[in-house]
Amino acid sequence: MKFSSLNLSKEMLHNLDEIGYKKMTAVQAESLPYILDGKDVIAEAKTGSGKTAAFGIGLLSRLDVKKFRVQSLVLCPTRELADQVAKELRLLARQTHNVKILTLCGGSAFGPQLGSLRHGAHIIVGTPGRVLKHLKKETLSLEHLEVLVLDEADRMLDMGFKEEIDETLSFCKKRKQTLLFSATYTDEIMQVSKNLQHKAISVKTISSEKANNIQERFYQCPAQEKLEVLIDIFSNFKPENVIVFTNTKIQAKEIAESLQKKKIDALAIHGELEQYERNDVLVQFANKSCPILVATDVAARGLDIKELSMVVNYDLPHARETYTHRIGRTGRAGKDGLAFTLFSSHEIDNVDEYRDEARAFEDARALKKAVGFEMKPQYITLVIEGGKKDKVRAGDILGALTGDAGLKGSSIGKIDIYDRQSYVAIESKLIDEAHKKLNRGKIKNKNFSVWIL
Ligand code: AMP
Repeated sequence: MKFSSLNLSKEMLHNLDEIGYKKMTAVQAESLPYILDGKDVIAEAKTGSGKTAAFGIGLLSRLDVKKFRVQSLVLCPTRELADQVAKELRLLARQTHNVKILTLCGGSAFGPQLGSLRHGAHIIVGTPGRVLKHLKKETLSLEHLEVLVLDEADRMLDMGFKEEIDETLSFCKKRKQTLLFSATYTDEIMQVSKNLQHKAISVKTISSEKANNIQERFYQCPAQEKLEVLIDIFSNFKPENVIVFTNTKIQAKEIAESLQKKKIDALAIHGELEQYERNDVLVQFANKSCPILVATDVAARGLDIKELSMVVNYDLPHARETYTHRIGRTGRAGKDGLAFTLFSSHEIDNVDEYRDEARAFEDARALKKAVGFEMKPQYITLVIEGGKKDKVRAGDILGALTGDAGLKGSSIGKIDIYDRQSYVAIESKLIDEAHKKLNRGKIKNKNFSVWIL
């Protein structure tokens, strides 16, 4: 179905067309008519379904830009998801002038958030703990809230945010539209919906999405041979980027290290990393400076990689829902995806519930053995010790690299600017040259220190 069948402004329709959203995804087609009608909606939708645009278009359509006060609040389980949601909202809002979207997440300094709040905002995207802190300090008011969104509500409950969410609601006025998005419909979620929502319309699209373009394969092998099989999978299917999911943090670390020893470039992400280390890893994976991420479920939340070619479950996940959530990270927005699961004879009983005709079960010995196989990244990341606070913009970095440093634009990949640091992906073979030149040269007439990540 086309977006033009909805009652949307000309600017919004034009913008959707420009950003390449030609047709509605299933969750958008099912939920938007109700959302635009002001109804409360509970939608079963996972990451990759287009859920952000579903609620984003909804809340932007209701927004009155002239009234400079908080009109929408989106609560997310993690800072990464909040950043990703804010980014998508900004993209959707780019034709509307002066829409102010602010993220309020834990893990960031409180002071600068106060400053931003004083300047005012229309839409707040944040994590429950930090949003509540601002409400209690009266640095944020929800008196004029029109739309409340709970994104990945099941994850927020998993992470123990129930109390913060309830308390946040006590700061809202009575009549508002509440939209709840969740990858799973558990009893707990239904209870939350009952407490928060009024005559909620329920939208389910996951079963129809399941018959999508994800190829699911299960490989049996002895537990001690899993690493070898993993490498065989990489060499047989040559994925561009992969997330390998493990059930424990230790495993994530060990597998990444073992892969590195075998010249397969991998990084681990797990709950024990400091925020900055986590960011370094996520940036490198997203900008193609590392093809493989080994992750636990919690650590991978909110990660938005648009084109992930493969997901591997190193072990069978403990819950079926986790399986669905993990594999939903590949095959997004119409792309093909591969979702592979390794299991040993110890796991064989639990694997039975996955057996159906859509999934292939194979003996890992059927894979061609990898010989001398290596996986190297396309890019390497340079870190520049200057960011938004130093008024550094992507254009400045690009300018410094292509101008004075003489690199071609085509050898520069993704640029990410944070408050105090920036990351730029450089084609691997040019990394030393770029590093040297940028270290000697200037960005915005200033010398910043630069290092290779
Ligand atoms: P989400 O489920 O919100 O994480 O969205 C997954 C991805 O799909 C995002 O990268 C969106 O930019 C993209 N997307 C959302 N809606 C559409 C659409 N109607 N057509 C094409 N891509 C879309």
